[in-house]
Amino acid sequence: MRYDIVIRNGTIIDGTGQPSVQADVGVRGDRIVAVGSLSGEASQAIDAADHVVAPGFIDVHSHDDFALLDRPLCDFKILQGVTTEVIGNCGFGAAPANDAYRNFLRGFGPLLFGPMGDFSWETTAEFYHALESRPAAVNVACLIPHAAVRYGVLSDEKREPTAQDIERMQALVQEGMDAGAAGMSTGLFYAPGRYAQTEEVIALAKVVAEYNGVYATHMRDEADHLLDSIQETIRIGEESGAGVQISHHKAMGRTNWGKVRDSLALVEQAQARGLDISSDAYPYTAGSTTLAALVQGGVIERAAPSDVLIASTPVQHEYEGKTLEDICQLTGKSLQQTVAELIAGEGESTVAVIFGMDEADVRRVLAHPTTMIGSDGIPSVAGKPHPRLYGTFACVLGKYVRDIQLLTLEEAVHRMTGLPAQKFRLRDRGLICDGSYADLVIFDPQTVADIGTYQEPRRHPPGIHSVIVNGTVTIEQGRHRGTCNGRLLRHDAAGI
Ligand SMILES: [Zn+2]
Repeated sequence: MRYDIVIRNGTIIDGTGQPSVQADVGVRGDRIVAVGSLSGEASQAIDAADHVVAPGFIDVHSHDDFALLDRPLCDFKILQGVTTEVIGNCGFGAAPANDAYRNFLRGFGPLLFGPMGDFSWETTAEFYHALESRPAAVNVACLIPHAAVRYGVLSDEKREPTAQDIERMQALVQEGMDAGAAGMSTGLFYAPGRYAQTEEVIALAKVVAEYNGVYATHMRDEADHLLDSIQETIRIGEESGAGVQISHHKAMGRTNWGKVRDSLALVEQAQARGLDISSDAYPYTAGSTTLAALVQGGVIERAAPSDVLIASTPVQHEYEGKTLEDICQLTGKSLQQTVAELIAGEGESTVAVIFGMDEADVRRVLAHPTTMIGSDGIPSVAGKPHPRLYGTFACVLGKYVRDIQLLTLEEAVHRMTGLPAQKFRLRDRGLICDGSYADLVIFDPQTVADIGTYQEPRRHPPGIHSVIVNGTVTIEQGRHRGTCNGRLLRHDAAGI
């Protein structure tokens, strides 16, 4: 048999969680056509001796909704081995978009998404068309953002929807699912999601359930009321019938450390009752969001000033990479005054990194068999974004697999590939087997590492040798070839 690409002598970790095997992988067109000891000729041969060959990683928690169009090379993702991203997380995304939502997002969006381009589409189908007409280097699956649906019907009104409003919101969700969305997400911690009652979310998630889609959520509270939030999330799943994905599962704030034992126990109980429920997590003890959201959520009052670091701020760039404690010392001003000035002076345009999690909790969540890996990376072009944008997958493979052996390599790869492909119904993705799409990463398990820091986060991880997307070598010897061969992955309601 003739192949376009043969990857020889690699250690194959196929994404199922099964033990690795030594084998070659043959690719023709966009598919894997053979796995074994291969003797046929190939247009291109890649020697993977001493390297792992795995399915390309799936970043289930991406905020690259606009970055895919603005910076389609997606170097910060693909250079850590990511070949597919799920966008539309935390209730925010690019479509559907009426004028009210566009105005809202123009104020707040650049902090989460980076540059937003012309942002001219209205329906979900039009946005998907834009993604398809300008392919990125990685594949993309999309969630319908609840904020967009709410703005689509209620504009910026902070009220409960009427029965008729709910029907119109359901119609927007249906339109998105018909266009090929993988599900819907909420951000109940943020406005406008925080104005939604549980019943509103259940009504919308019922539409998602009709398509076998996923309900993903940045929950109402990840701190003092974490367990109430988990209960609400489980109720939404059980009453709507939709599969549930808890986004960036964590317990924020010192007084809540250890609570993930209970939150994970609730997940297990719901799973035992038959709910399809899982989580994602990034492997860091710091989170990141806007400074304004931290103040509104009361987080700042409970955090030590040394635990809050300014990631990006539009004017006073000299504060980037410094903690609030550092800034107070520099300016001689009180904490209250410093925070008030940062928010007043810069509008809502300051992004913070907050060291609010317990390392033991991060490990508990990562070790749990239902946890997938999601970077939650904020693709900003300014300042010092949380290093998870560049390093999430390398950090799991380096620190948590090789260095502290929290997970086996096979298990970690499964959580990055086969498990998310199954959850989000990405047909023929996430596994190395005959007939699968040739999304592949070849990496050195001895050297892969996240080398970014909070002061210098923009560092690509070493050890990622090659990345193949739909049969096209996109990263070769650690270098981006400038190819954009990613696809929009429309949700397959029939399953995989
Ligand atoms: Zn979130």
